[in-house]
Amino acid sequence: MARVELRALAKSFGAVPVLSGIDLDIADGEFLTLIGPSGCGKSTLIRMIAGLEPQTSGSISIGGVSIDHLRPHERRVAMVFQSYALYPHMSVFSNIALPLTMQRLSLWERLPLIKLLSSRRRRVMPEIAREVRAIAEQLQIEHLLDRRPARLSGGQRQRVALGRAMVRHPDVFLMDEPLSNLDAKLRVHMRTELAELHQRLKTTFIYVTHDQVEAMTMSDRVAMMDAGRILQLGTPTELYERPINIKVASFIGSPA
Ligand code: ADP
Ligand code: MG
Repeated sequence: MARVELRALAKSFGAVPVLSGIDLDIADGEFLTLIGPSGCGKSTLIRMIAGLEPQTSGSISIGGVSIDHLRPHERRVAMVFQSYALYPHMSVFSNIALPLTMQRLSLWERLPLIKLLSSRRRRVMPEIAREVRAIAEQLQIEHLLDRRPARLSGGQRQRVALGRAMVRHPDVFLMDEPLSNLDAKLRVHMRTELAELHQRLKTTFIYVTHDQVEAMTMSDRVAMMDAGRILQLGTPTELYERPINIKVASFIGSPA
């Protein structure tokens, strides 16, 4: 079960508070979108869930178990960034396989020379290759596994980044504006693909965007944020038809 619970979560950078009093329950398998103007704290919030940024106070649990003490790679979450964060010197295959090779091979088994000598590596690598191939097929990038990221289109890079997140079979996907670097047409197409992926995986998605159309079309629920707080939480229809104030209304673009 991957129910995510945020309790009284707060974050300050030095003396500057950027998030305060964040209480949020995200159901197992839910597609929840955080939306709000630039600088309202969306990225900081999901970076805290990923363990990339320590919270100042409050707690985070997944499946009823506190994850506050866990380091990023120990949390059963995977993050997809706007910038893809692919390694340029590595093939698509190696980029996707990386979380698995890090997990299953020791540092010395990953060194170029030792590679050839390690029998454990010879045992583990075919398994990893099978898993990477299965994910690549799902994302329809199996023909690109030998390429370097520089020779991929924006949409293909985004799929590789997704593949690297999927290969760990996380309980929770965290996505920080994953489509914002794509052109408008591809963005609309990838929206549909992400929604389908969510249907297929039935995993909890916490999705960040400042694009209200994205939020309204893909999400089970939307949390509208402003200045480090959640202003309103509800289904897209609820936010559109019954915005609690003018800020929500104008951001969501509802007629109220
Ligand atoms: P969003 O993703 O909604 O645009 P962010 O979470 O990136 O917002 O930022 C929220 C606020 O925290 C902003 O005012 C930003 O300048 C500030 N902030 C983010 N990261 C840092 C940091 N590492 N150090 C200091 N301030 C930061
Ligand atoms: Mg951001």
